[in-house]
Amino acid sequence: MKAHHALVADFIPFSWVDGPGNRFVLFLQGCNFNCLACHNPQTIALQSQRAELLSVEEVLSKIRKSTPYITGVTVSGGEATLQSEFIYTLFRAIKDDPELCHLTTFIDSNGSAKQDTWERLAPVTDGAMIDLKVLDETKHLALTGSSNGEVVKSIRILTDLSLLYEVRLLLLPRQNDSELELAATAEFLLAIDPNIRIKVNRFMTHGVRAQARKWTEVSEEEVLGYKGILRSNGVKELA
Ligand code: SF4
Repeated sequence: MKAHHALVADFIPFSWVDGPGNRFVLFLQGCNFNCLACHNPQTIALQSQRAELLSVEEVLSKIRKSTPYITGVTVSGGEATLQSEFIYTLFRAIKDDPELCHLTTFIDSNGSAKQDTWERLAPVTDGAMIDLKVLDETKHLALTGSSNGEVVKSIRILTDLSLLYEVRLLLLPRQNDSELELAATAEFLLAIDPNIRIKVNRFMTHGVRAQARKWTEVSEEEVLGYKGILRSNGVKELA
């Protein structure tokens, strides 16, 4: 398993929510964070009997079946970039294939990859979505078990590479959703790019582990409230 094979947790032949347009989404197994609010905790372990070792050719054959309906391919996780050489080989193969080269190639990531990984992937990647769990480092450690240092760096690196499609915020009631925190997050992200696109994701208890199952879910009205705060702090691009 390196450049030609990946441990795959799952795939969706058609998705509207994993990047622009309609997309084939591949979920790779294994993550280096351990988020309390993870909606797919079964994808965290680096090895899983439920995951399948697939070759680039096997994944391409699945993608080909979706091509009449999709505009692109997204690799997600787990943390996709832990298997970055596989992503490079898959995206390179898509770009080199006359029947697939019209598809855009995106990565959905927790932002923990280092600069050399993003630079390696840049020539074959059209965009990336980065999750910023919370700007405050202490809270980030508590919510994910990891520092957000590389996440913040990834947002800057991808902006410089013109590859940042959007930053995703998963807002958790009374944990990372105060007006003050949202204003600070907006200020921080707008300083990197005044036109940065932010997506607010709703926290739902579906799929999460026991501790987070007790947390309050976020309503559609609260999402509108969060977006209002971000907008009033200067964010123009909101999803
Ligand atoms: S980064 Fe994503 S996949 Fe990894 S633990 Fe957090 S929510 Fe789950």
